[in-house]
Amino acid sequence: MNKGQMLYEGKAKRIYQTNEEGIYWVEYKDDATAFNGAKKGQIANKGFLNNKISALFFQLLKKHGIENHFVQSISENEQLIRKVEIVKVEVVVRNVAAGSLAKRLGLEEGTELPHTIVEFYYKDDALNDPFINDDHISILKLATPEQIVEMKSQALKVNQVLRQFMKELGILLVDFKLEFGIDVEGKILLADEISPDTCRFWDAVTKEKLDKDRFRQDLGGVEEAYQEILKRLEAQM
Ligand code: UDP
Repeated sequence: MNKGQMLYEGKAKRIYQTNEEGIYWVEYKDDATAFNGAKKGQIANKGFLNNKISALFFQLLKKHGIENHFVQSISENEQLIRKVEIVKVEVVVRNVAAGSLAKRLGLEEGTELPHTIVEFYYKDDALNDPFINDDHISILKLATPEQIVEMKSQALKVNQVLRQFMKELGILLVDFKLEFGIDVEGKILLADEISPDTCRFWDAVTKEKLDKDRFRQDLGGVEEAYQEILKRLEAQM
């Protein structure tokens, strides 16, 4: 398989065409951004770590019947994925109050939510990814009502699998963000990445943060935290 023309460069990844119909080539970068790009930096080996961690999560989900865009890893920081048209909605699932939810609703960080909640954000940098609901998604024609139901249902399934799996590794799955795409057959397909960049992982006992909040909040030990997640995943898989 050949790496073709670059189609898109995001904050954490580059996407390339390939010579195979329906397959894209992803390169995970070491670049790190937070607060919609206002804070920029690098996390050593992040491309390698997130490529690996994401691949393991996507394989785990597939094993549990949750289809996704992952095809195969091809190098330390590259993987092949199925071609999709990304839906411009970020789907956030939360089990414990943290980040923007804690701030917006005045909840203490770490408060366990009475039940899991799903939120939508409009994936638009210029607007700062605003919080939106089903009606906003509808008027902006970002997804159909059926697609919204499907994304929410898949997001909750992902939560069930990941939350239980991480619990066994001694990690609390606080919250995470998913992105979905429309595949060549017009179906909703889980896409993007699942990594410490897009999830909040806390050590279940010490509550130590093992995710991008270490970068956002200048806590230090960012690479080590991502490595710790990979180490625990690899020990179990
Ligand atoms: N998240 C993400 N990309 C974004 C915004 C959020 O991956 O553009 C993830 C974030 O890592 C966390 C969850 O989604 O796991 C919820 O984030 P929150 O709304 O609390 O926003 P933040 O505090 O990151 O601004």
